[in-house]
Amino acid sequence: MILEKYSMGIGDRFARQGKAQLAAIIEAKRQGVDVTPVWNKSHREHATIRTVPADVRSEADEAVKSLGWTDGYHVDADHIGLKNVDLFMDSSDFFTLDVADFTGQSADEEDIRAFVEKHKKYIGSFEVPGIDEAFKTTADRIEGIARKYLLAVKEAGKIYRHIEATKGADNFVTEVSMDETDEPQTSEEMFFILAAVADEGIPAQTVAPKFTGRFNKGVDYVGNVAQFENEFNQDLAVIALAIKEFGLPPNLKLSVHSGSDKFSIYEPIRKAIKKYDVGLHLKTAGTTWLEELIGLAMAGGQGLKIAKEVYRKALGRSDELCGPYATVIDIDKDKLPSPEVVEGWSGQEYANALRHDQTCQQYNLHFRQLLHVAYKIAAEMGQRYLAALKEFENVIAINVTENILERHLKRIFIYE
Ligand SMILES: [Zn+2]
Repeated sequence: MILEKYSMGIGDRFARQGKAQLAAIIEAKRQGVDVTPVWNKSHREHATIRTVPADVRSEADEAVKSLGWTDGYHVDADHIGLKNVDLFMDSSDFFTLDVADFTGQSADEEDIRAFVEKHKKYIGSFEVPGIDEAFKTTADRIEGIARKYLLAVKEAGKIYRHIEATKGADNFVTEVSMDETDEPQTSEEMFFILAAVADEGIPAQTVAPKFTGRFNKGVDYVGNVAQFENEFNQDLAVIALAIKEFGLPPNLKLSVHSGSDKFSIYEPIRKAIKKYDVGLHLKTAGTTWLEELIGLAMAGGQGLKIAKEVYRKALGRSDELCGPYATVIDIDKDKLPSPEVVEGWSGQEYANALRHDQTCQQYNLHFRQLLHVAYKIAAEMGQRYLAALKEFENVIAINVTENILERHLKRIFIYE
């Protein structure tokens, strides 16, 4: 199973917006760019919302069927490990093997020695086409990288072989992710990680490194854009070389776990994939759920009432909601509007504060981040929330489609 050149991970917390999401992909295709939709959802999201992987599969199948989509699409078991992969086995055909839990834990000394020995031809100075300065790799450096990542990659190998044994090698796409580690990987580290991935026989089609800078959920990138651009371009060069050197799949590409909406790095990414004519997987977080809130607010009446209630409750439980996301959100509580203020807002005012339009004066990134992690509140509303999604489906769908098309697909994939 080959993953196409451009693909986009479109998380959808409540699994109700598949059609509206796919409509954006269809419009992009009409405008000349083929992007494969990948519905991704992690175990954590399923647990919070009380959905199961089969729900994502039916959402995807149903959207594809009802809109007559005949191109490829996938269902991604996002950030899975050996402990929970079995839950995803039937429903998924894309597996993101998360190795973050094991990075920093050291493999056996024997394995480390064998790895250094196997790759000793890279000791000294070696050129990576596309990177100006040659890598000056030492045995110590390779050993250090092995010490940090080899066990993690071996663990990914175990997960891969477990999936392969059940599904058959040709029936799924494999991604290796290490974006949830503490430190960004250098391009030299990336090269030897890919060597280890190949040694393990993992036919990775996408790899998700951790990049420099902050990737807070649902809001723009915070960091040095020029440094990011340099890293991104170096990673592309390293991947191109690793494909040749280690026999990895020729379509191996970068996967950017964006946490959604990293608009300021979209331009350098767009430039780089165009310049080198390479693929990209852009994975987003569940910000479609924020478009649901925007749609509900704009619908007015009961919809607006629910949107306000979610915020009021979220504010009261902010520590609990933010806890699991502590490393990927930055909320200044002083900048959050009081529930009384929000109570007085019109639907338009609520939408203006929440929608990710940085040119809008009312846009509030603290409000947005808190609501991003507040999906648990909506999940607890249960049927009431889902019924509102149905009742106000039209206005919600417009927002969902517009968000994916205008703010994401057009900025990153649709050239000129
Ligand atoms: Zn990730």
